Amino acid sequence: MAELKLSESRDLTRIERIGAHSHIRGLGLDSALEARVVSEGMVGQASARKAAGVILQMIKEGKIAGRGVLLAGQPGTGKTAIAMGMAKSLGQETPFAMMAGSELFSLEISKTEALMQAFRKAIGVRIKEETEVIEGEVVEVQIDRPAVSGAASKTGKLTLKTTEMETVYDLGAKMIEALGKEKVQSGDVIAIDKASGKITKLGRSFARSRDYDAVGPQTKFVQCPDGELQKRKEVVHCVTLHEIDVINSSGSMRLFYGVERSMRLFYGVERSGINGKHALIPGPRWTQGFLALFTGDTGEIRAEVREQIDTKVAEWREEGKAEIVPGVLFIDEVHMLDIECFSFLNRALENEMAPILVVATNRGITTIRGTNYKSPHGIPIDLLDRLLIISTQPYTEDEIRKILDIRCQEEDVEMSEDAKVLLTKIGVEASLRYAIHLITAASLACQKRKGKLVEMEDISRVYQLFLDVKRSTQYLMEYQNQYMFNEVLTREGDED
Ligand code: ATP
Repeated sequence: MAELKLSESRDLTRIERIGAHSHIRGLGLDSALEARVVSEGMVGQASARKAAGVILQMIKEGKIAGRGVLLAGQPGTGKTAIAMGMAKSLGQETPFAMMAGSELFSLEISKTEALMQAFRKAIGVRIKEETEVIEGEVVEVQIDRPAVSGAASKTGKLTLKTTEMETVYDLGAKMIEALGKEKVQSGDVIAIDKASGKITKLGRSFARSRDYDAVGPQTKFVQCPDGELQKRKEVVHCVTLHEIDVINSSGSMRLFYGVERSMRLFYGVERSGINGKHALIPGPRWTQGFLALFTGDTGEIRAEVREQIDTKVAEWREEGKAEIVPGVLFIDEVHMLDIECFSFLNRALENEMAPILVVATNRGITTIRGTNYKSPHGIPIDLLDRLLIISTQPYTEDEIRKILDIRCQEEDVEMSEDAKVLLTKIGVEASLRYAIHLITAASLACQKRKGKLVEMEDISRVYQLFLDVKRSTQYLMEYQNQYMFNEVLTREGDED
């Protein structure tokens, strides 16, 4: 077999990165929440999109909690796409957690613990911190990575060079050192907000990793006049309850530092106490919590840790230091949950901090997992009663054509008009998903014959190569005798 060349493997990586919903950039609604025909990658499904937009508005405007929404419709009618559209339209500060019902059954932790973690991933905490603001004159700062040292010219223009390793604190210190402003202490950080132009002296505590990210090539630093403090400014950090749980779930960290301080340690900088300098003090537990957060391998988090955190957050809320931001928890294939999970959801929605729960299913009246009872969508009636139901409808030929156009653009595939007409026909006859899958395959077939434009012949070639569900079923019916565990055969046998 020929070896896979580097360029080919690179291309494969690129293909993988174009996900099934990567063309969705929002819900495509106008300011009156009406669905535009084609917008932000979304086509048709107008009433479902509008309904999702109303829910979104409710989330953005208020602190509504504990509402549930069910997206119900046939396979491939855009339920997941609408949920993705909602996620994209939410601001960065509103958490959106996503999971499939089936995931719960493959985890090492209990189903209810996994659900609890998912809920807490969807609850944000805005923590406010006061910092001093100073007015000053902007100094042009050029940050070259990964050069080494820093230097300033006499004209007041400052060229600051840094390495990837240097923290924003080092940069601030270097800048002030270079400018010789005594009243500003070495170690303070002065930064200018690019959008508002506000000049901020970042406090010494609670710097999030986001602060480090701010030191990019476009970061501007300012020259402080005499370091006069003019105002106090609020700096807001957003974390999720789950992040706080994980950081604090490593026993010794909590024991020694308490919730508040371990958060500071985790997110940034703590005064070392030796010479008043700021430094990261990463200990083994810190690394453990940090890794757990990124790998998702958090294990079960003890109820007492969560209780302690909830108490602390409640305290912060009372003191006006923190606010709860209920986000969105999206559970796809919700019919895969069982009766225990449904009862957990019922209870969890009652919590005043609960996020908005959005669930999706393509099932009709079916058995509730874990029982012998049937129910619409396989969801118990008591939970169903709490959900606002948004239904999605099958697409028209014209809508399928438009979605395929968008997918061709997304996948960078040029296709002739004839080929698109044929692909749309296939979309109508087989399914939208199948037609979407054929785009990449047909483009590869086109490359193989060294063509530039995907033509009808490429589409028919891959149509013959890959079966859709209907043809595959037909094939199975014809050749059922040759397959193992054939149910049709068994039943026929039984009848005999
Ligand atoms: P299932 O019930 O099988 O999970 P679904 O209803 O969740 O299906 P999606 O996965 O959202 O269906 O849709 C199938 C494909 O079609 C996806 O690639 C999706 O991005 C795309 N798609 C669906 N609806 C739209 C739409 N209205 N606009 C643009 N793309 C869409």
